[in-house]
Amino acid sequence: GEVSKKMFAGIWKGYNWQESHVGYVTNGVHMPTWAASEWKAFYTEHLGAQVFENQSDPEAWKGIFKVKDEDIWNMRMALKNKFINFVRREFKARWLANQGDPSAVMEIVDKINPNALIIGFARRFATYKRAHLLFTDLDRLDKIVNNEKFPVQFIYSGKAHPADGAGQGLIKRIKEISKMPQFLGKIIFLEDYNMIVAKRLVTGVDIWLNTPTRPLEASGTSGEKAEMNGVLNFSVLDGWWYEGYRFNEKAGWSLTDKRTFTDQAQQDKLDAATIYSMLENEIIPLYFAKNSKGYSPEWIQYIKRSIGDIAPHFTMKRMIDDYIARFYDKEAARSKRLVADDFAKARDIAAWKQHVAAAWDGIKVFDVKRAEASNVVTGSTFVTDIIVDTNGLGHDLGVEQVVYRLENGEEVLSRIDEFEVVKEEGNVLTYELKDNIKDAGVFRFGYRIYPKNAELPHRQDFAFTRWI
Ligand SMILES: *Cc1c(COP(=O)(O)O)cnc(C)c1O
Repeated sequence: GEVSKKMFAGIWKGYNWQESHVGYVTNGVHMPTWAASEWKAFYTEHLGAQVFENQSDPEAWKGIFKVKDEDIWNMRMALKNKFINFVRREFKARWLANQGDPSAVMEIVDKINPNALIIGFARRFATYKRAHLLFTDLDRLDKIVNNEKFPVQFIYSGKAHPADGAGQGLIKRIKEISKMPQFLGKIIFLEDYNMIVAKRLVTGVDIWLNTPTRPLEASGTSGEKAEMNGVLNFSVLDGWWYEGYRFNEKAGWSLTDKRTFTDQAQQDKLDAATIYSMLENEIIPLYFAKNSKGYSPEWIQYIKRSIGDIAPHFTMKRMIDDYIARFYDKEAARSKRLVADDFAKARDIAAWKQHVAAAWDGIKVFDVKRAEASNVVTGSTFVTDIIVDTNGLGHDLGVEQVVYRLENGEEVLSRIDEFEVVKEEGNVLTYELKDNIKDAGVFRFGYRIYPKNAELPHRQDFAFTRWI
C-alpha cells in the first residue's frame, strides 16, 4: 500500500503521498486450485469441510494444532515423493534428449533424494527477483549441498520474458552451474515452468525461497500457495511475506526488509551471506533434528503454525472479502446516491466543480498573520489569520495547516488542521486557526487552500490546491 501510494503520488500535485486515497488489497490464492488434493482430503478429515467455507477465518484452521505430528510428516513425505516421481517421469526423457551425456542425466535423476532438505525457487526470471543470489559464493554453496550428513538440494524453475535478455542470462547461468560436477543433482533446473510444474513444486518441496530486491516484489503469490501445502517460506520481507511473516515469526524465515547498502551489488552480497548463514545455522539443523520416527518435531510445529496462523490470511476468499469491504461496497453505495433522481447528485457535483474551476485562478491571498517563530513554544496557543479574496467561492474554500515532523531526515506527515472562517466582508474571508503545540521536535509546516465539498469521495477527486 505504501509503495503504491508513493508510486502514484506524482499525479496529485500539492498532496503528500501519505494523503493519497490509493488503497490496496493483498493478493490471495485460490485454495481449491492450489492446495494438493491430498491436503484437501486431509483438511476435510481433520478440520471438517467447514474449512473451505471459512477459509479466511483462522478459527476454522485451529484444528491443525491437534493433528498428530506423524500424520503431518507422512503427508509431507507423500507429496515430496510425488514431486520426485514427477521430475523423474517428466524430465528424464527430455534431459536425455537435450543434454547429451546420459550418465550425467541418470546421476541427476538418481540423486534426487526424499531425505534431503529440498528447497524450491520458481518464478518468472525477472532480474529483480534475483535468482542468481544463491550463487554468489559457489564454494560456500558447495559445502552446504555436499554435506553428507545433512543433504540439501535446490530445485529451480522459471521462464524469462522473450524480450528480457538479462532474465534469460540468469537461466543460462543456473543451468551452467547445475552441470558443474559438484552441483550435479544438487542444483536442478526444471524447464518449461507452467502451472503443473508450479503445483508439484509448491506442494512437494520443503522450503520455498524468494529473494527479490526490496521493495519491488508486488506479491509473490507462489509463496502463498506453498503455505497451504505445509511448505515453509524463506523470503525477503517484501511482497506478501512482509505481512505473512508477522502473523507468526516461528512459521518460516525472513531476510530483513531494510536495505543496508544503496549499492545493489553490495546488498546482494550481504543478502547471499545471510541466506547461507541462516541455512547453515538455523534451518538445516532444525530440519535434521529428527527423532526416532524420522522427522523433526520442531519442524512439524513450524508447518502447523504456517498452516494455522498464516495460510488463512492469504486465500482468495480473504482477498475477495477485502475488495468488497474496502472498495466494492463503498462504491456501490456511492453509485446509488449519485444516480438517484435522474443523477441529481452527480449533476450537482459536476456543476459545483465547473463553478470552482472557473473562479479558481481569481483567488487572492491578501495576508498571513501569525506569531513570530521565536514565540512558538510547546504548551502555548498561537493564532494564525489568513485573509483571502475568495472570488465568489466563499465557503466552498477550505484553508488548512499541514504539519510535518522531521524524523531521521525524513518528513513525516504529522497532522492537518482546518482553519475556521471568523470574518466575512463580501468576497473577503478571514480564516483563523488557534493552534496548540503539544509535541516537541522539529517540524515543517505550510498552509493550503482547497475546494471544500463533503460530497467528494476523497480530496484527490478534485485535486485543486494552492499552497500559500
Ligand atoms: C503462482 C504462479 C506464478 C506467480 O508466482 P510469483 O511468486 O508471484 O512470482 C507464476 N507462474 C506460475 C506458473 C504460477 O503458478
